[in-house]
Amino acid sequence: MPSLNRLIFIAAGIGVLIGWLLGFLPQEAGLREGVLYGSTLVGAVFIGLLKMILIPLVFTSIVVGVASLQAHHQVHRVWITTLLYFTLTSALAMLLALVVANVFKPGAGMSLMMFADAMASFEARQMTMPEFFQHFLSGLFKNPFEAFANGDILSVLMFAIFIGIALVAGGQRYQTVLQLMQELLDMLLRIIGWIMWLAPLGIMALLIRLVAEQDVALLVSMLGFIVLIFGTTVFHGAVVLPGILYAVTRKSPLWFLRGSREALITAFATSSSSAALPITLRCAQENLGVKRRIAGFVLPLGATVNMDGTALYEAAAALFVANLIGVELTLVQQLVVFMTAMIASSGAPGIPSAGMVTMVMVLQAVGLPAEAIAILLPIDRLLDTVRTAVNVEGDLVGSLVVQQLADDGAEYQGA
Ligand code: ASP
Repeated sequence: MPSLNRLIFIAAGIGVLIGWLLGFLPQEAGLREGVLYGSTLVGAVFIGLLKMILIPLVFTSIVVGVASLQAHHQVHRVWITTLLYFTLTSALAMLLALVVANVFKPGAGMSLMMFADAMASFEARQMTMPEFFQHFLSGLFKNPFEAFANGDILSVLMFAIFIGIALVAGGQRYQTVLQLMQELLDMLLRIIGWIMWLAPLGIMALLIRLVAEQDVALLVSMLGFIVLIFGTTVFHGAVVLPGILYAVTRKSPLWFLRGSREALITAFATSSSSAALPITLRCAQENLGVKRRIAGFVLPLGATVNMDGTALYEAAAALFVANLIGVELTLVQQLVVFMTAMIASSGAPGIPSAGMVTMVMVLQAVGLPAEAIAILLPIDRLLDTVRTAVNVEGDLVGSLVVQQLADDGAEYQGA
């Protein structure tokens, strides 16, 4: 029997193949409908299971991670290294996007009139920068039960950090609670191990639908832009991030790819860093040798605020829209795109097409019409695949880099 890792890989290939073949059947063919319906069911069960485990997992892994880092006076170092890494890699991704977009000028030869209908019927939700900040900050601290119930990772994360620090501040007094958290986390990881057995089927189902439901004519008309975004995102994921990994840890890119494959394919198929998080955590700990205290801290945080793929996309797409409209963005305006895309990608939750919502802010910051989102939305399900995989890859590389630079390397019980 092939390993699970390999099964997932094979299943992803079969999923794409079946999806592609279904494209040849007429829309109303019974076989096509049947396969799509079955795929919807299996995909929904798989994503449902991942979501079921997600919030308890984020909570316990952050509590246990922060408590053991705090107990060994490493929290500050890890915190600072993590944030520096997140900022630096997102900045690199956007720089890459801006350079590529300036060189290739995507959208320059196309006419905006092609999209006039879509734009006229689309009403973009406007959000100004101050509103965005207010929204972001007020989302950080919430009633934990509300946050748990709504699956609001960022506020669950904040609450868990407080609990982790308080557990250590209380010393021996809260030993039982800490132990309870460690055992709970162990249990959840065991359940993830079971869910993983459904991963090949779940991923296959998601990919069948993804491929079968693409509007080929639309894809062809936007082909240049799509190829450019894919190429640049893949370059960041295949060259820049592995380069950083190698420079800091001397780990080979192939070793990394083998160890993180399950997480990357899941991110690709679900288009959600959050849904992939249980698998990302598992890959980091079991395949890449990241300690629980580091993985438990860096990965959940990364899944919500560190999105290299999204940052890259938002910067490139803003220039694409500018080209379509026929305006040349000045250097200062491009700097504004850079800054807003940085904030917008951090503010985007790890769910499908979240980047599209925060993208509006980037467009508005340089006076581009928010309605232009209507042009990008129909191809977003496709672009979101690679973007999300690179988002998750950035988090995984981050956990290895932070472990190398900020962890004292010692073994502690349960961490
Ligand atoms: N789908 C992406 C993620 O979950 C977010 C985005 O839309 O860019 O990481």
